[in-house]
Amino acid sequence: MTEVNNCKVLMVDDRAENLLALEAILEGLDVKLLKANSGNDALSLMLEEEEIALVLLDVQMPEMDGFEVAEIMKSSERTKYIPIIFVTAISKEDKYVSMAYDSGAVDYLLKPIVPEFLISKVKVFMELHRQKQKIKQQAMELEEANAKLRDLSYIDGLTQIPNRRNFDENLEKEWKNAIRSGSQISLILIDVDFFKDYNDIYGHSKGDECLKNVGTTLASAVQRPRDLVARYGGEEFVVILTDTSQQDAEMIANQMKDNIEGLQIAHGKSSVSNYVTISGGIATMKPKVIMKKEEISQRADQALYKAKELGRNQIVAFNVGKQ
Ligand code: GH3
Ligand code: MG
Ligand code: MG
Repeated sequence: MTEVNNCKVLMVDDRAENLLALEAILEGLDVKLLKANSGNDALSLMLEEEEIALVLLDVQMPEMDGFEVAEIMKSSERTKYIPIIFVTAISKEDKYVSMAYDSGAVDYLLKPIVPEFLISKVKVFMELHRQKQKIKQQAMELEEANAKLRDLSYIDGLTQIPNRRNFDENLEKEWKNAIRSGSQISLILIDVDFFKDYNDIYGHSKGDECLKNVGTTLASAVQRPRDLVARYGGEEFVVILTDTSQQDAEMIANQMKDNIEGLQIAHGKSSVSNYVTISGGIATMKPKVIMKKEEISQRADQALYKAKELGRNQIVAFNVGKQ
């Protein structure tokens, strides 16, 4: 992040003694002084240097005069917002003063320069620059905080894996993708077996710990970037597998089932194992425009119900015509 008090003043004059005079006046200020002795020099310096708070621009210079420099500055995104003070020997009443304003100048100073005037004007622009930087910094911090909040709203607080909302939006997106590409999607709906009993024996906070463990373990069983493991709600989890056949989904689901039992989290009241286990229902579909994406969740849910019915700690795939 840029330092708030890092600011520069660029002095442009074709005569070295004028630059030295300006420098002598501004020396005591907390500002970095840059010097250019032609319009071209000044413009290339402006492209190199960040955080220029102000340009003190001599009007009468050979080749390119101050007004031309100002015109060019206004035409580039990078330089158009840098304030300019024209420094001119021409009297105030002169037509050149109005020209200075036309070209976008914000102020002017007449030669010979009165040091107090110059110092007070430069101070005003330094302050303006600091305020601008502060606002920029705050905007950046706000943007960072918002991004963080956005991320958090898609992550389940307990398990730190994607949440239901994340799943809903992902399924919507992948369902449409699959319609376009004509590919199939598999969904695995997973539910922890006898979890009410687990809470009853070990307490709710042990239950939370168990869910965290299950969530992390399930999430680590998929590798492809578009696969999604999310907490569906309570002790239920869901997996989206894009472009995946039922057979492959069954392999992954069974791997997940084995991994969970392999954690060997003691469960004293499960009638199917000594450890915490899961049941899973799989649905595989080739989405079509006329189908609703809810159908795949319903099918997976029916398959899960079947897995529970058949005794738990197993994976069942939805079979059209058989459920
Ligand atoms: P089944 O084998 O049929 O799935 O039985 P079950 O006991 O797992 O099913 P049931 O739906 O009756 O119970 C789910 C339990 O999960 C009840 C609820 O208290 C618990 N649960 C849901 N969310 C959380 C949670 O965030 N933390 C804890 N500790 N428990 C939770
Ligand atoms: Mg349940
Ligand atoms: Mg359960």
